[in-house]
Amino acid sequence: MREVIIIGAGLSGLTAALAFRKKGIQPLVIEARERWGGRILTVAAEGKGTPVEMGATWFTSQHQHLIRLLEELSIPFYPQYLKGVGVFETSLNEELQLFRIPETVEPSYRMAGGTSALTEALVERLGREELLLGSPIEKIAEQEGHLKITGSKGLQFACKKLIITIPPFLLAQKIAFTPELPAALSSVMENTHTWMGEAIKFAVEYKNPFWRQHGLAGAAFSHVGIVREVHDHCNFEGNSFALKGFLSEEAIAHPREKREAEVIAQLERMLGKEAKDYLSYTEKVWKEDPFTFTEYKQALRPHQYNGHPLYSRPLMNGKLILAGTETSSHFGGYLEGAVYSGLAAAHAILDKMPSSTA
Ligand SMILES: Cc1cc2nc3c(=O)[nH]c(=O)nc-3n(C[C@H](O)[C@H](O)[C@H](O)COP(=O)(O)OP(=O)(O)OC[C@H]3O[C@@H](n4cnc5c(N)ncnc54)[C@H](O)[C@@H]3O)c2cc1C
Repeated sequence: MREVIIIGAGLSGLTAALAFRKKGIQPLVIEARERWGGRILTVAAEGKGTPVEMGATWFTSQHQHLIRLLEELSIPFYPQYLKGVGVFETSLNEELQLFRIPETVEPSYRMAGGTSALTEALVERLGREELLLGSPIEKIAEQEGHLKITGSKGLQFACKKLIITIPPFLLAQKIAFTPELPAALSSVMENTHTWMGEAIKFAVEYKNPFWRQHGLAGAAFSHVGIVREVHDHCNFEGNSFALKGFLSEEAIAHPREKREAEVIAQLERMLGKEAKDYLSYTEKVWKEDPFTFTEYKQALRPHQYNGHPLYSRPLMNGKLILAGTETSSHFGGYLEGAVYSGLAAAHAILDKMPSSTA
């Protein structure tokens, strides 16, 4: 029998695991994917290996729990490049609109090496032994004094305390609970949008940051093409260069090659003809990733139910705690919310443990 199990090796689950480790408890972390990180996914681009973010990228000085964790793990961070002129494409029949980005804008920050540096550092601190990948959980049943957890490959686990960090909507669709969760909570989960679950991200690597050389910030926005927004995405060391952005949701209907061609054509229009001489194109369609997204029955409003008070109530007679960024009353949806909810869930359990165990 395990003392504590955590389901989901995203930022929330790994942060919770570290809180237990600091108190001498080694929880088992069970993850559906063959990788850890969840909605954090930094990829080494094929050209020069520039770390490109296919998932979370930015945070601000308000995200204090995240910043404390970065400091603890010695991960440097740096402001998003935003010097010079921004570009706005309103229509193919009109000139591009150029605007100077005020220097007083409070910066967003990025992590050196990419956001996955954070989850890598957490896993390094925790050790790989207690991290079980490729094991989607399907059922949770309350039994005398413990919870029984069943995975897709017939794997079974028993634990005294369980933290689940799966996005609530996905949790409501994919995991069967015995006895069922309270109806009011299930209804909140069914209505909780998974932040960024529909996003399509792309990154394009270049030999040179040609936009910077033209006095452009690399920030461009469009109402016209499939690229909705793009940002400078050069690395921390300043020696590999890229642009990164978001595509419109409709772009999912195109094959990858068509998306790539359209992105390059649009970057040429918005940032200069040098855009066509690129080293690599990388993309990620999150809607096609079943461990983040599953189709909604009706359109859900992002953030509306994040941090709902029902998420902070212990379930199954105190044995089950929900976590994950959408459950967080503080910056729900964001990296900060993931850290906050992971810590809150861990402390909800640790604070009730006899001091000899915790
Ligand atoms: C494209 C994109 C851009 C983003 N940009 C930003 C940004 O710039 N700034 C910011 O602050 N936030 C951003 N976010 C949000 C940020 O990524 C999340 O807030 C954070 O990573 C969520 O962490 P989490 O651990 O709560 O959830 P997740 O990362 O979703 O982790 C949940 C884990 O549970 C696992 N899982 C799912 N089902 C099962 C199952 N049945 N059994 C076992 N495991 C399961 C998943 O595989 C996953 O690893 C972005 C997200 C995306 C997708």
